[in-house]
Amino acid sequence: MLGLMQDWPLLIHRVIDHAAAQHANRPVVSRSVEGPLHRTTYAEIRRRALRLAKRLTREGVGLGDRVATLAWNTWRHLETWYGITGIGAIYHTVNPRLFEDQIVYIVNHAEDRLLFLDLTFVPMMERLQERLPTIARYVVLTDAAHMPATTLKNAVPYEEWLAEADEDFRWASFDENTAAGMCYTSGTTGHPKGVVYSHRSNVLHSMAALQPDMLGLSSRDIAMPVVPLFHANSWSFAFSAPMAGATLVLPGPKLDGPSIHELLVGERVTISAAVPTVWFALLQHLEKTGADLPDLQRVVIGGSACPRAVTQVFRDRYGVEVMHAWGMTEMSPLGSVCSMKPEYRALSGDAWLDVKQRVGYAPFTVEMKITDDEGRELPWDGTTFGRLKVRGPAVAKRYFRHEEDILDSDGFFDTGDVATIDPHGYVQIVDRNKDVIKSGGEWISSIELENLAVGHPDVAEAAVIGIPHPKWDERPLLIVVPKPGRTPKKDDLIAFMQGRIAKWWLPDDVAIVDEIPHTATGKIQKTTLRDLFRDYRLPGT
Ligand code: ADP
Repeated sequence: MLGLMQDWPLLIHRVIDHAAAQHANRPVVSRSVEGPLHRTTYAEIRRRALRLAKRLTREGVGLGDRVATLAWNTWRHLETWYGITGIGAIYHTVNPRLFEDQIVYIVNHAEDRLLFLDLTFVPMMERLQERLPTIARYVVLTDAAHMPATTLKNAVPYEEWLAEADEDFRWASFDENTAAGMCYTSGTTGHPKGVVYSHRSNVLHSMAALQPDMLGLSSRDIAMPVVPLFHANSWSFAFSAPMAGATLVLPGPKLDGPSIHELLVGERVTISAAVPTVWFALLQHLEKTGADLPDLQRVVIGGSACPRAVTQVFRDRYGVEVMHAWGMTEMSPLGSVCSMKPEYRALSGDAWLDVKQRVGYAPFTVEMKITDDEGRELPWDGTTFGRLKVRGPAVAKRYFRHEEDILDSDGFFDTGDVATIDPHGYVQIVDRNKDVIKSGGEWISSIELENLAVGHPDVAEAAVIGIPHPKWDERPLLIVVPKPGRTPKKDDLIAFMQGRIAKWWLPDDVAIVDEIPHTATGKIQKTTLRDLFRDYRLPGT
C-alpha cells in the first residue's frame, strides 16, 4: 500500500520559490567583480532566475544540457544556478584554480553548451576557446558598460542578454532524480572525475546541513560563504541559506584577510565558512591591526584539517566558535560537523579543544563505518583507525561517464581517508590514505604534526611528508613557511612539539620554505612537495 500524501518532487526551484515567498526582502549582498557592493533580495534573485531560465530556453538549452560557470560568489552566479536548474539543465561549476589543461579537459568531458564567466576570466578563456568546441556562447557576467572588447565566441554581457527575456515563465517539472549540478574533483593523479548531483540529493543535503548540530542556519543569521560556489556546492550555502531565509553575503573575487574582515564587520556577518588558509590570512590581519570580530559567532572550517591553535585563538581572543567540518566533493560535500552532543557539553579548556580537533559526527543522511583493508568493520573506540566509508542519498555512486560504480558490496563509498571514530560517533581524520607516514610498521599522522607545528608563534603554515629511510621505511620531514619577519629554528620547533606527541612521531628534520603549494581547493599539494623533496636526504642517512 502506498502513502496518500502529495507528490512534491524535491526540485531546486522550490528552494528559491520558498525564499521569495517567506523571506522576500532578505538581503543578498555581494562584492561585485566590478568593485562596489551590490544589494538585492531573494525575491529579486527569483525573478531574474526565471528570466534566465526563459532566456536559456530561447538559446536552445534544455533538460540534461550542461551549462558551465566560471565565477566568484556573487548574486549573478547564484541566479545562474537557479535559472539553469529551473529548466532541468545542469550547472557545471568550473574551478578557475585548476590548471588550464584540466579546465579544457572537464569542459570537453562535460560537453558544456554555454559558459557564464566573470570578467576576471575573459583573458584565460580567450586563450582556451579554440580547444572548447562544444561552447556555443560565452556570457560575461557584467553589464554593457563594463563589457571588454573580446574575441570570445558570441560573447554578450549578461545583463543585456538577460534583458531579452521577461520573467513570465514557469519552472519546468521533471523527476527529482534528474541531474542538477556537476563538480569535478581535482584528483591528485589522473583526470579530474565528474560528480553529478541530483535535485533530490542537493535538496536533501541542504536540509541535512540545516540541522542545528550541522550549520544550524536561521532567518536571523547573516551568512557569508567564503568557500566558492565552485568548491563542492559552496558547502550547501547556495541552497541552505535561502531555505532558512538567512541573509547572504557573497565576497566576490576578494578573499584576502582585509577584504574578508571588511565584509564580516561591515555586514555584521554571524556565520562564515572557508578552508583553513582563508582563516590563517584573516587571523594574521587581525593580529597585525588589532581589529576585532564583533558580530561573528561561528566559523565553519573544513576542506583540510583545522589546526588546534586556530580553534583556540577564535575562541579565546574573538569569542567565535569553530565548527570543524569534514566532507568531500563526492558527498555534496558535508559529511560531518563538530557540534557538542550532551556527552561533551560540559567540557571546557583543553578537553573541549581536544574534541574540537575531531571533525564531529555524521548527520542524518550520512552513514559511516571504518574498516580494515579487507573490508572488516572496526570498532568505534576512538583509537582503532581504518578506512572511512560512507553511504547516503547525497553520496556519489558513480563518476560521470565511468563504467563502474564506486561502492563496496554494502553500497558504501571509500573516502580515501583514514580515521578513528569514538564511542559517541566523533570522527578524527588521521590522514589521507596516501599521505600517512609509514614508520617502522606503524603510522604517523601528517595532519597531526602539521596542526601542532602551526601552533608555534613563528610558523605561518606547515606541511609534513614522509621521506624514505633505510631503517624505518619513512620518516617525517616538517616543511615550514615562517610568518613575515620571523626565522624559526629547527631545534626550537622540535622542542615545541616535544611532549605533545609520541617521541617517535617527532620530525627528523625541518625545511624552511617561502611557499607551500596548494591544490585548486586549497589543500596542501603533497604530490608536488614530494617531487620537490625527491632528492632530499634526512640527516644521518
Ligand atoms: P578535491 O580537493 O580533490 O576536490 P575535496 O574538496 O572533495 O577534494 O576534498 C576531500 C578531502 O579533503 C577529504 O577526503 C579529506 O581528505 C580532506 N578533508 C576535508 N575536510 C577535512 C578536515 N576537516 N580535516 C582533514 N581533512 C579534510
